[in-house]
Amino acid sequence: MSDSDKLNRRDFIVTTAGATGALAGATSMAAAQPADPLGPGFDQQDPLQRYWSKPLGELVHVDYGQDARELERPESQERHRIYSYLLMKLILRFWNGNKNGPIGSYPQRARQLDPAIPNRYRGDLNERTDRSHISWDRYLGHNIACVAVDGLGHIIDFDFNHNAFFRSTAEHAESRLVRRLFSLTDIFDSWKTGPHVDAKPHAALLSEVTLYTSLESCAQCSGVMSLAGVKQIVYMQNDFTAYKIGNIMYNLANRTPIKDKDGNVIGSVAGAPVPIPGSKVGLAEFDRLNQGNLAFIKKMNQGSEPFFSSAGITDRDPSITSFLCTDDAYDIFKAGAANLDGLQLQFESYRFPVQDPLPDDPAKRVLTNKECLIEAQKFFEYVDVEGYRGSPHKL
Ligand SMILES: [Zn+2]
Repeated sequence: MSDSDKLNRRDFIVTTAGATGALAGATSMAAAQPADPLGPGFDQQDPLQRYWSKPLGELVHVDYGQDARELERPESQERHRIYSYLLMKLILRFWNGNKNGPIGSYPQRARQLDPAIPNRYRGDLNERTDRSHISWDRYLGHNIACVAVDGLGHIIDFDFNHNAFFRSTAEHAESRLVRRLFSLTDIFDSWKTGPHVDAKPHAALLSEVTLYTSLESCAQCSGVMSLAGVKQIVYMQNDFTAYKIGNIMYNLANRTPIKDKDGNVIGSVAGAPVPIPGSKVGLAEFDRLNQGNLAFIKKMNQGSEPFFSSAGITDRDPSITSFLCTDDAYDIFKAGAANLDGLQLQFESYRFPVQDPLPDDPAKRVLTNKECLIEAQKFFEYVDVEGYRGSPHKL
């Protein structure tokens, strides 16, 4: 991943080299060995074989030069930020921090109090209330969402975490969205109800799809995205409890060979999505959210101020889903969302992937960054009123 991983990796190498030369202690040497032999069958799985005896830090390290070299370009980073800001604006639009219900005390949510009713907190913070923008209070899921973008830059769909709605711990945004993409009769059916694209097999091209998610993916979602063949996943915040499983899957998954018309292997694509933290696309909110979450964890562990209390119930769980209800988290999403509205593009005419020559048919052209921004703004306008993709995030 980023600089911190490079540091960890380097530290590990230095430490290991010192230990090997100086003491060759039984514990250090034993720790460097795998506990079990790889075993027949598994030993034919190339990445597993390659990483079996290596330190965990190497397995977690992502070489972006292999599958996401474009991230080095500020033009590409700008493109990713457009969809990241859109996602933050969608989360802000459907924000609901009433994780433990609207009644009680949430010391970290003072600004979400209902001014009209004592000890009651607002779920929906939407200021616009008219027939198109109804209010709702019920907590349906966490403030975590995901947007899918196709290979040209068109937005396919979005979805929210709906754990509470389905009384489940597994209704996460990414896996819900991937299942929804497969359930669509044709993933190229646009939300704009545009024309069908001929000769596109149904739900067969997720290898060109980028998902943007607000929280680093768990094992379930990383697995679902790998099975679906999703190209890459850009995330806005670390989940420190997800033990970098997305990185591990990316490195361990067998790659799919690419063959030319004569059957010769000319390359390969990753067998799991490339995990891309927001820091790799210049998203300032990535660090802010991580720092805010760490501060929240510290506060909960210190035991001074709870997340929630009511009638003998005290919730001090330092869960990230609680952090994502706080005023601090709300402010960061608000700042990210505001970026979408006031965004001054530096690379308006940049297209990625580069098409040379550019197709005559405008429908087949990759969107420029300016067109991506217009797409994102139009999609928000649609969602702002309709809001019903997948299962609704409002009732
Ligand atoms: Zn998940």
